[in-house]
Amino acid sequence: MKKYNFNAGPSMLPREVIENTAKQILNFNDSGLSLMEISHRAKDFQPVIDESVALIKELLDVPQGYSVIFLGGGASLQFTQVPCNLLHTKAAYLNTGVWAKKAMKEAKLYGEVLELASSEDKNYTYIPKDWTCPADIDYLHVTTNNTIYGTETRFDYDVPVLMVGDMSSDIFSREVDVAKYQCIYAGAQKNLAMAGVTVIIIKDDVLNKMTRPVPTMLNYFTHVDKGSMFNTPPVVPIYSALENLRWIKKNGGVKAMDKLAKQRAELLYGEIDRNKLFRGTVEEADRSLMNICFVMQDEYAELEKEFFDFATSKGMVGIKGHRSVGGFRASCYNAQTIEGVEALVSCMKEFEANH
Ligand SMILES: *Cc1c(COP(=O)(O)O)cnc(C)c1O
Repeated sequence: MKKYNFNAGPSMLPREVIENTAKQILNFNDSGLSLMEISHRAKDFQPVIDESVALIKELLDVPQGYSVIFLGGGASLQFTQVPCNLLHTKAAYLNTGVWAKKAMKEAKLYGEVLELASSEDKNYTYIPKDWTCPADIDYLHVTTNNTIYGTETRFDYDVPVLMVGDMSSDIFSREVDVAKYQCIYAGAQKNLAMAGVTVIIIKDDVLNKMTRPVPTMLNYFTHVDKGSMFNTPPVVPIYSALENLRWIKKNGGVKAMDKLAKQRAELLYGEIDRNKLFRGTVEEADRSLMNICFVMQDEYAELEKEFFDFATSKGMVGIKGHRSVGGFRASCYNAQTIEGVEALVSCMKEFEANH
């Protein structure tokens, strides 16, 4: 049976990205060695880094004066690395979910953290709108897509400071005004590559400005200076990112990804709103195009497990909602196909007809 992968992360990747990466794992550039065995200093690997950086800059239209680096440690390490490098005295955070909250916790180790607004009062089912950003802070930190709750900000705020953006779960799904950010970071395993690498886009002006001592490995400058080769980078994950970046470009770039995301979301939210058994969990204006969360209507609550088993029997994978939300979550990152979403919609229709 065909499987439709709605996992939230690690998540679906285009088949050709997986196949091309697998080929290189068996025999890298016809060298007779595996991608897993070569030195990251091998002359053949530098072009992998160079092309990946160039594609990221091209796809996101990154302005002059920014560097792109690949690091380990996941987006979670960025919760620490960002304030370690960029928080001199005070920074503001939008508390839009558990990831944002974790980022705030780490930032407090380095300076004053202003919680500009929070949607924790309603289990993060909306993006707070009622706030103004002060000008006397080092940065405003935003989480553009809240993977667990299914809320998203698909635009870049106008604020008097340069932002820091956690774009782990929606990077390369829309155009971004990179000039409004001093740092953008994304763990790769949601929308870019296999797990194991984090992409960081950093403004060169902010590098090496911290007066506190910054540990060498945590200093962004260390990695910018050495082109992500200060120590051994995650070679295979970076290669898988390269394949996916090529795939995004070949398929029309982020504009085309944005259009597809809207088509998928329209299909699935359309069915959630139409179907008498289900309802969405977040405010309509803030609905994520990447992580589509829904639950059973109250009067059908007892059918939850039955629907899950039914959908699973039809090939749906990874649709269980995060434990803090319950119900269902269908993650629709760039690789998700319209066919996959249509298959899920069919399940929902058939289940409704049976009840
Ligand atoms: C998954 C996720 C993280 C954490 O990523 P790791 O790579 O597991 O550390 C952080 N922020 C967002 C928005 C995420 O979706």
